[in-house]
Amino acid sequence: MAKSRVRHASQMVECDVCGGNYNRSYLVSHKRLAHSRGNSAAPAVSEAEAVEAIVGIYKRLSRETKKLVVDRLSAALR
Ligand SMILES: [Zn+2]
Repeated sequence: MAKSRVRHASQMVECDVCGGNYNRSYLVSHKRLAHSRGNSAAPAVSEAEAVEAIVGIYKRLSRETKKLVVDRLSAALR
């Protein structure tokens, strides 16, 4: 009895993203919570919407910070 319970509990699988060990049945939830790029709580944002949001934020920044952002973005493109 006890032995089969142990065996059941030791169904650990390795997460191929972070290498952590998780219960087989929990791994799917773990991946969704820890590694999901598309957060299921928030609807997926299209690239056009993302651009709108970024530009909207950018416009509210001070001149100094705008320069900083442009520098960071052009560095990211390299
Ligand atoms: Zn993981």
